[in-house]
Amino acid sequence: MFDLAKQLDNPCNLSIGQPHFDTPQPIKDASAAAIFAGKNGYTPTQGIPELREAVLADYAARGVPQEDGFITSAVSGGFMLALIATCDVGDEILIPDPYFIMWNDLPRTLGVRPKLVNTYPNFKWTRERLEAQITHKTRAIALCSPANPTGAAVDETEMMMIADFAAEHDLWVIYDEIYRLFTYDRPHFEMSQYYPKTITLGGFSKSHSMTGWRIGTAVGPKEVIEPMIKLQQYTFVCAPTPGQWGALAALDLPMTKEVDDYRQKRDFMYNALKDDFEVIKPSGAFYLFIKAPEGMTGDQFVRAAIAKNLILVPGSAFSRKNTHFRLSFANTDEQLKRGVEILKSMVREKEPVLT
Ligand code: PLP
Repeated sequence: MFDLAKQLDNPCNLSIGQPHFDTPQPIKDASAAAIFAGKNGYTPTQGIPELREAVLADYAARGVPQEDGFITSAVSGGFMLALIATCDVGDEILIPDPYFIMWNDLPRTLGVRPKLVNTYPNFKWTRERLEAQITHKTRAIALCSPANPTGAAVDETEMMMIADFAAEHDLWVIYDEIYRLFTYDRPHFEMSQYYPKTITLGGFSKSHSMTGWRIGTAVGPKEVIEPMIKLQQYTFVCAPTPGQWGALAALDLPMTKEVDDYRQKRDFMYNALKDDFEVIKPSGAFYLFIKAPEGMTGDQFVRAAIAKNLILVPGSAFSRKNTHFRLSFANTDEQLKRGVEILKSMVREKEPVLT
C-alpha cells in the first residue's frame, strides 16, 4: 500500500501516526542546552535522576503513586522489556483485536503466543471474550487506552472487569497510556489504581510530538521494574541522553492547546463522516477506525482511496479482520477537509443511480 502511495503526486496523507505539530521549543532548547553543556555520555540505565524522580512525582500527584520506575527507549522499548520480564517461551499474552501492530508480532519472536480478544464492533472488552482466550499458559494482558488504531478509551466498568479477571488468573497487565493526554470527553483512568500488578508505559512521542526522540517511561511494582531495568542494561543501555533532558522540560508543558485542537479535529471528522460510514466516535488518540462500505474489504477500500490520491491504513494491518481502515486526523484542517471530500465522493459513487 505504501509503495503504491509513494507514486502519488501531492497526496492527502491521513495515514500518519504522529502529531502534525512540531516539538515545542522549550523541549528543543533544553535538549540543545544539554548537548552544548556536554551531557552526551551514557546516563544511568534507569535514566537521569531528575527525570526519573519527576515522572514518579507526576504519577503521585495524579493520585497513582508507583513503587518504582525508569526511563525507557520510548514505549516500544518499554513494551519489549515488559514482555520479556513477564512472559517465557511457550507462554501466552492476551491482546485486543484490533491491536497496536507490534503486539501481534513481537511476542512471536520471543516464542510467546499472542491470543486475540475480539473487541469488534464497539471496541470494548468483555469478560466472555477474555475467558474465551485464557489458558493455563496466559501470563499477561496488553491494554492500551486511548487505543491505536480505534481511539477507544477503556471506561471504568471495563477497567474494573479487567482488574478482576487479571486478579483471578494472576496476570500482569501491561498498560500502554501513550495517548493519555489525548483524552477528549472524560478523565483518563489508570489501570494501576484498580490492579497492582500493572506495568504502566507512558511516553512523549505523541503528546509532545517527540516520535524521533525515543523517550518513554515504565512504572510499576519493584518486582517487575527491577528485572526490566536489568534487561534495559543488556539491550538499549539507556534512553538517549539529550532527549531525557528535553523530556524533563516536556513535563512542565500541559499541551492543552494542542489537545483542544485535536478534540476539534476529532469532532469535525466524526461529524463529517458519521452519516456515510459506520464509525464509532473515538474518545481519544487521533484516529478513526472506520468500517469499509458494504461489499468491500478494508484493503480494497484503501486501494480505491489511493487511486483517488488519499492515503489511509488498511485495518488488516491491525487486525485479523479485513473490514476497516484507519484514518489519522493528526493533520491540518485543510488536509482533513480534502480527505472528507474524497471519502464522501467514494461512497456516493458506490450508491446505485436511481432512474
Ligand atoms: N504504543 C502505541 C499504542 C502506539 O500507537 C505507538 C506508536 O504508534 C507506540 C506505542 C510507539 O511509541 P514510541 O514512539 O514511544 O515507541
